Amino acid sequence: MDSYQKVLIIDTTTGFYRIKRYRVGAFFGPVDLGLHLTAHNFCLNFGTGLLAGSIFPGSNRLIFTGFSPCWSGFYISSMGGAGLVFDNLGINMVSLIGKAPAPSVLYLNRVHGEEIEVEIIPLDLRSVWSSGRGGIYALIDQVFEQLSDRYENDPRILAVGPAAQATDFGAITSVPVVNRKLTHVDTWAGRGGLGSRMLQWHGIAAVIYGGTVIDEDFRNRKVADEWFENKYHKKLAAKDFEATTKYRFDPKFGTGGTFGVNFSTLAGKMFSFNYRSMYMEEEERQAIHEKFIVSHYLKQFNEETIAGKQQRNCGEPCVAVCKKMNGEFKKDYEPYESMGPQCGVFDQRAAEKLVHHADMLGFDAISVGGVLSWLMECLDRGLLKPKDIGVKGNPAFSSRGFSIETDSMHNAELGMQMLDAMIEKRGVLDFSEGARKLARRLARERGEEVKDTLVYSAFARVGWMVPNQYWTPGVLAPMAIMGKYYMYYGTDFLPPRELGRVSAERFIKELSIDNIGLCRFHRNWAEEMVPEIVESLYGMGKAYEQNLSITASRINSRNASVFWETERSIDLVHTFLRRKRDVEDERDDELIKWLDFFEKDRREASLSFWYEVHKGVHESLREFR
Ligand code: SF4
Repeated sequence: MDSYQKVLIIDTTTGFYRIKRYRVGAFFGPVDLGLHLTAHNFCLNFGTGLLAGSIFPGSNRLIFTGFSPCWSGFYISSMGGAGLVFDNLGINMVSLIGKAPAPSVLYLNRVHGEEIEVEIIPLDLRSVWSSGRGGIYALIDQVFEQLSDRYENDPRILAVGPAAQATDFGAITSVPVVNRKLTHVDTWAGRGGLGSRMLQWHGIAAVIYGGTVIDEDFRNRKVADEWFENKYHKKLAAKDFEATTKYRFDPKFGTGGTFGVNFSTLAGKMFSFNYRSMYMEEEERQAIHEKFIVSHYLKQFNEETIAGKQQRNCGEPCVAVCKKMNGEFKKDYEPYESMGPQCGVFDQRAAEKLVHHADMLGFDAISVGGVLSWLMECLDRGLLKPKDIGVKGNPAFSSRGFSIETDSMHNAELGMQMLDAMIEKRGVLDFSEGARKLARRLARERGEEVKDTLVYSAFARVGWMVPNQYWTPGVLAPMAIMGKYYMYYGTDFLPPRELGRVSAERFIKELSIDNIGLCRFHRNWAEEMVPEIVESLYGMGKAYEQNLSITASRINSRNASVFWETERSIDLVHTFLRRKRDVEDERDDELIKWLDFFEKDRREASLSFWYEVHKGVHESLREFR
């Protein structure tokens, strides 16, 4: 018997809605269906995968798809745990079209088998954002207070902050509600600016949803254990426990979570001071890591968060408990790197303040960290003056003579002023069309150096994305979706053509996990098992894999990547290659060949390197090979 995915299409202009059904097989999940809907409508979609509500750990991710205002292309962003409550609506996806005449809350509720309740409720967004805890937190509080009583079970709320109105990279956030109480464990669909999209294009500032529908989710543990025993000689729970070690606690490093494990292992590969660490000697980088991170930033984290066992999950029962907390502050590697060492912040108190302020305003944390560190360097080098961007003072932006606590706090407070200035569009800071466009304008007015210190992937005419915080060329690969892990970010050297091919493979694997709504922290079993699970449950494992390949080729057919536009971006690649040879003593012929080329003709070498990666991507992501 055929199965169907149900999409609730809501016209936010009028509040009219309808359900449309799509056969499983024609489409398999929130990504390929989202891509299809995006190709035919101006829409923002969010929904769950076929395994939502099942016993598979990590299967309740809420997946957002749509045209990203900052990337200028199709984008996928996902949020942990938010799919568990969504599943109680008895639908697979919501697709927003149209635009509400005033900023509004979308209310979705469904009691047992009754028809879904849909309301669009206007609110005075500016005054809500400036009340109580401010920004997204105030909005979540307000919606919870106003509407949560209407639900039999705990609902969940999605919300955007002022960044969604003022910039093209506003995120969407949510916190689990447990026993009628909001928790502090915020979860984010951060990358891609889909919060800006939801507010600016559809007039929706928040969504509250929940219900009591119980559908036939796969919950047969005995059968699942058999599949896992056949493959791994371990039951599902045991395999999952093993696969998620890094995110829970890794005894090898005496710490856990992305913050703990990454900061323990980065050493000389860590970026700091807006990537300027790339130009330092290895000894200096190591000294920064040892003195500022191991002996302080990481030590604080280990003492407060790990020893204190302050760890939570995203809203679904999950043994990874990857949400590493200190009170109300959640610690992930990338926000605490991009708004940490990259901004000259090496102290938890200072980083908590800065990251919390950015979160409260609803920014994509990684991108805003990249923007702040860029502005800090511009101030430090006198390329911009404090009055140009409506702030007071200059950063402490060198490791020499740096006072960990005092200077970190100084930089964090300066960063907070910058964040407010971005929202208020003070001085030259207008991010309504993004950082790349602003950098281009500033370069015309004040010289190329301003632009050249910003690191981003460029896409189409104005698309931009601050890369993931790893020193490796993969984070700047010319892929159709960047800023997530749809590329290879290992730090070994791969010849560029090979890097393109491997990135294409990663693209398909990550797609496989997103399209079934699984959390990538479970990828150590999920990548292998998903097609087999789809085969066992729907008899369509092969079709699932074929569909992934076609979906990847369709996304890649709109790959409008643009060659690296700034000197700092090129330097990220060049210095990576140099470090491989000079520090890691790698003597691979290809590596030496590329380094010689870079040293002879940097411009031509970087263009050729970029094109080789591009070739590897394009020769791999094809419908027909
Ligand atoms: S690993 Fe973290 S984000 Fe993923 S399902 Fe578990 S708790 Fe949620």
